[in-house]
Amino acid sequence: MEKLTLMFFKKECMGCHACEVACKQEHELGIGPRLVRVVENAPDFFPIHCHHCANAPCKVSCPVEAISRNERGIVLIDKGLCIGCKACLEACPFGAMQYDNATETAVKCDLCIERLNHNEAPACSNACPTRCIFWGVAAKLNEKLEKPVLSG
Ligand code: SF4
Ligand code: SF4
Repeated sequence: MEKLTLMFFKKECMGCHACEVACKQEHELGIGPRLVRVVENAPDFFPIHCHHCANAPCKVSCPVEAISRNERGIVLIDKGLCIGCKACLEACPFGAMQYDNATETAVKCDLCIERLNHNEAPACSNACPTRCIFWGVAAKLNEKLEKPVLSG
């Protein structure tokens, strides 16, 4: 099965944070963790998000094997197994892994797997007014956005 991921066309991001809000609502997250976030480095904006890495450092670092990559390439955390050690936060090269004080577990982008199962786009992609958030098969997105392959 082809592997899915999420990518941003950064040049089109205007820093409105609509993606962050939509993600928070979708995952019912309170203050603290942001599974996608946009940082400003004037005059540009840089979205920080999970790349669903092929050899995910977060997965490798977890001492209790709470992180897995499913058959669609989506890197997921089993909160029931997570002991909150934060090794995955240290391991993620993109700063995408987050910690949720409410549950005392790590938390990350799941590519809105429930929405995908209903043939709906991830919440961030759906909310973006400039349509600069893409999801789909990694190889095809890389080709489309002319970006280096970070996941596959
Ligand atoms: S959380 Fe970080 S290390 Fe893990 S898959 Fe996402 S980008 Fe890769
Ligand atoms: S915080 Fe949880 S998911 Fe992350 S490495 Fe520790 S046990 Fe694994």
